[in-house]
Order: sequence, then C-alpha cells, then structure tokens
Amino acid sequence: MAVDVLCEVSNCVHWANGNQCAADRIYVVSHTGKEAEHQEETDCKTFENQH
Ligand code: SF4
Repeated sequence: MAVDVLCEVSNCVHWANGNQCAADRIYVVSHTGKEAEHQEETDCKTFENQH
C-alpha cells in the first residue's frame, strides 16, 4: 500500500503544501482505455479542480 503520494497538481482540492496528496486514497487510470505503455498515458481520476 502506498502511504505517501507526491503530486504537483496544485489546483486539485486534495493537494497540500509540499506537493502532498491529502486524499484518503487515489484512483489512477489509463486514459487510453487500454493497457498503458508509457507514464503519459496514466492519470489520477481522483483529481477535482478547486474551481
Ligand atoms: S487526488 Fe490526484 S491530482 Fe489530486 S492531489 Fe491527489 S494525486 Fe494529485
């Protein structure tokens, strides 16, 4: 189990100072809908815009 998630998406409601993710858990998906081959193909689905 991951205990620390570092994230630089500072406009997410779960983001905290020091590039910390304050969410209880995150859900990471392959946005291509297929098996990811590169890191650019993965996204945090738990992201919520602050605005
Ligand atoms: S929920 Fe995802 S995007 Fe938001 S701070 Fe955590 S890791 Fe980053």
